[in-house]
Amino acid sequence: MDQTRLPSYISSENIGPWRIFLHQIEQVAPLLEPALHPWVETLRRPKRSLIVDVPIRLDNGEIAHFEGYRVHHNTSRGPGKGGIRYHQDVTLSEVMALSGWMTIKNAVVNVPFGGAKGGIRVDPRQLSLAELERLTRRYTSEISSMIGPDKDIPAPDMNTNAQVMAWMMDTYSMGEGRTVTGVVTGKPLALGGSLGRQDATGRGVFVTAREAGRRLGVALDGARVVVQGFGNVGEASARMFAQAGAKVIAIQDVSGTVYNPAGLDVAALRSYYAANRSLLGAPGTDALGNEEFWALPCEFLVPAALESQINRYNAGQIDARIVVEGANGPTTPEAEAILAERGITVVPDVLANAGGVTVSYFEWVQDFSSYFWSEDEINARLDRIMTEAFNAIWQLAEERKLSLRTAAFVIGCTRVLAARETRGLYP
Ligand code: NAD
Repeated sequence: MDQTRLPSYISSENIGPWRIFLHQIEQVAPLLEPALHPWVETLRRPKRSLIVDVPIRLDNGEIAHFEGYRVHHNTSRGPGKGGIRYHQDVTLSEVMALSGWMTIKNAVVNVPFGGAKGGIRVDPRQLSLAELERLTRRYTSEISSMIGPDKDIPAPDMNTNAQVMAWMMDTYSMGEGRTVTGVVTGKPLALGGSLGRQDATGRGVFVTAREAGRRLGVALDGARVVVQGFGNVGEASARMFAQAGAKVIAIQDVSGTVYNPAGLDVAALRSYYAANRSLLGAPGTDALGNEEFWALPCEFLVPAALESQINRYNAGQIDARIVVEGANGPTTPEAEAILAERGITVVPDVLANAGGVTVSYFEWVQDFSSYFWSEDEINARLDRIMTEAFNAIWQLAEERKLSLRTAAFVIGCTRVLAARETRGLYP
């Protein structure tokens, strides 16, 4: 890694997923039009990164401190947009990488946003609901100079949800002295949320899987599907695959893996999870070890949990026809090379999971106009945008003999850097 390319606060020791993002930029840079080359460096440097201390009073009266982040990677095409993650392993480097992927993703589906991301280094399972609310409100207050409906619009990510967005919206609105619904997306319906937002990312994963299957001659009906993650993204994608006649044979979450070669009952698993906060032990399922999980023969493998889950250690065992990246950054560059060699197609995160931000864009538009669309309308528009983005990427990949990820990055980076170039350099 060329140290001169790193900001001073990132070194080879703490580079984390930012390394993967930089690697992806290196792959794509030579493929861009020469006129854009002078601007590529802007993608290697987040525009602004904020680290905040988030102190809260715990229920037992003690004060605890957590580290929070918000990063604007690039705002050439519009205000920042990207989720808020609560996880014990969140780091600045991770938030930087996630914000970079948001820049590319928003350009790939051509929504008028730049890339941003935020997070708090916290294990939310250790906090009560009241503590979680205090944490969210203090964090929102600490990053309030960065966010706003025409500045940067947060949304849910791992371990955050519509309730967290409602607290963020309320806290920001109190500071402004008026109700500002458009400051976050992924809100509850009663507060200006959008129909279809809850399932949007999973729906987008399903749509891009369907299109990849169509191109590669893999039928959905009867296809074997393996999913990692049973949260917002994993559960909705599993449900949609099952509704389309596919067999979801294994699902893994943080508690372990459930397996049924005849196909899991996804709706029953959802109820079981709601009652037990774990998938393990659900009726009609067997437990499975981690190594066996990654080696399951299947048509579609959907990683929808964390980064770097498909890596050099398990890529050689993966027996899928198509990997559809529901999560952000689930495949390391080393693993991707192994999968490519083995003829496994990867539908990249910046396309596959862009359904969430696409419906977030619809929500933001609806909030501004105070006019709300029907769910059918939203799902149809989402399907159309995802299919068009998929087709453009597939076509470029065929024409220039690129992986789908590189083709997506060529399209995304070209849009971002063309905007950058046209705006020119201030002052
Ligand atoms: P979530 O918190 O709703 O669910 C996360 C799931 O991952 C849970 O089922 C959890 O048990 C599981 N998990 C956590 N650690 C695990 C581990 N070590 N092994 C196996 N499973 C584990 O989060 P989400 O919103 O579904 O996000 C999942 C991924 O999708 C993240 O990478 C996120 O950035 C990405 N994503 C989310 C959205 C969105 O709209 N929520 C949009 C785009 C991308």
